[in-house]
Amino acid sequence: MTTNRFNIVVIKGDGIGVDVTNAALEVLEAACRRRRGFALVYSELSGGAAYYRETGREMAPDAEKKAEAADAILLGAIGLPSVRHANGTEVSPHLRLREILQLYAGIRPVKAYPNAPKMLADDRASEIDLVVLRESTEGLFYSAAIHNRSVVIGDEEVRETLKISRATTERLHDFGFRLAQKRKQRGGKGKVTCVDKANVFQSMAFFRKIFHERARFYPDIETSCNYVDAQALDLIRRPWEFDVLVMENMFGDIISDLAGGLVGGMGIACCAEIGDDHGLFQPAHGSAPDIIGQDKANPLAAILSGAMMLDYLHDRSGVEALADAALSIEAAVQRGFSEKRIRPVEYGGDQGTVAVTKAIVDLIRRSDG
Ligand code: ATP
Repeated sequence: MTTNRFNIVVIKGDGIGVDVTNAALEVLEAACRRRRGFALVYSELSGGAAYYRETGREMAPDAEKKAEAADAILLGAIGLPSVRHANGTEVSPHLRLREILQLYAGIRPVKAYPNAPKMLADDRASEIDLVVLRESTEGLFYSAAIHNRSVVIGDEEVRETLKISRATTERLHDFGFRLAQKRKQRGGKGKVTCVDKANVFQSMAFFRKIFHERARFYPDIETSCNYVDAQALDLIRRPWEFDVLVMENMFGDIISDLAGGLVGGMGIACCAEIGDDHGLFQPAHGSAPDIIGQDKANPLAAILSGAMMLDYLHDRSGVEALADAALSIEAAVQRGFSEKRIRPVEYGGDQGTVAVTKAIVDLIRRSDG
């Protein structure tokens, strides 16, 4: 990136995806308003289950090309339970984007904010601050329905493929170590844990072998390995001890929801999907059909995903004001919780999507003086 003008493709998608993306755009606008030296230029693309129902297409024509040409993609949520392909699978154009754009690093931060619900009785639960790094282009999702790679033998048997390649795994582990280094600079623990099932699967032993190979290049980072079942247990017993957890796609899918649940639920589960040349930012939650149109959606996951997008654009471009804007969003969320100015309905509070968004925008404006 050599410019200060960034083209952002926005796909709001389905259900609460629309509301939380609007919230994120409002907060981004507030955070960027006073910061000079860059401009975000948005273009909205249609896509998702409702769009599929109307048009028979998952995304607007040319959407993939436009997404490929953008500096970043901001996505809401895709999918509606009432809309399915003939084989029963969901409309999932975002899974194809992951593959086309090679977004191999799925980053899902899990952080306990003050006064947010704590699911664990132990006081140390307030110290939870970890990242699930989920490989997002292969693993067991290599044969996810959208890719049409499952082997279907009549009505008798279905076989899926779990793929672990050296090229992707090296990049993934390097990404994890660099992420731990970056977090260490900001006061993080400087640890990476490889989560696998190396005792049972050759593919997982390979994943772990490459982890150790790459670890040698990052002597400042502490390493450990954990089997995925033990990791699930440890996330309940001692989640505050972990920093970066790196794992295969399907394990990451499950573990990130478990970890998200420890700090309040899906409404705060932000997510970045990053490749060597592209980045897509979206809340980890779905379209939440049960609360559509009720102003109950917690927009924080989308808002924090927006902050991750600014951070990513800063990393790629070196424009400092972007990092500053990202920090202003994170600080507003932190302060909003400590001062009880953020009280989402999702957490039993009195603020719907609109009110939470307004509270964050006010906090950003006030901190900007
Ligand atoms: P997907 O498979 O697309 O991730 P899902 O069917 O697993 O989606 P979600 O749509 O994420 O599920 O919803 C799971 C539960 O979490 C629902 O009860 C939903 O209302 C709740 N939920 C999800 N996102 C939010 C949010 N932002 N605010 C409040 N509740 C939410």
